Amino acid sequence: MMGKCPKCGTLITEVRAEEVSVGGRWHGVQYLCPGCLTVLSVAVDPVALKTDTVSEISDHIDEALSPILVALQQIANRLNRMK
Ligand SMILES: [Zn+2]
Repeated sequence: MMGKCPKCGTLITEVRAEEVSVGGRWHGVQYLCPGCLTVLSVAVDPVALKTDTVSEISDHIDEALSPILVALQQIANRLNRMK
């Protein structure tokens, strides 16, 4: 059984999806009736949420590892000078 748009009664066999900001922080998507563009639903974009989360974690890892890599390079340089 297919649903109908609550405003215009169009049978919803597909929706129009558009990007929308959710609270200014997350990427969202709003699903619109293709007949009258009434908003049927809004949700956080799951693909963008995954991409943003991976990117944020990667940035934190890079930030945490950077001083360790610098220290290791300094140790390697000292060892090379001792040869
Ligand atoms: Zn409609």
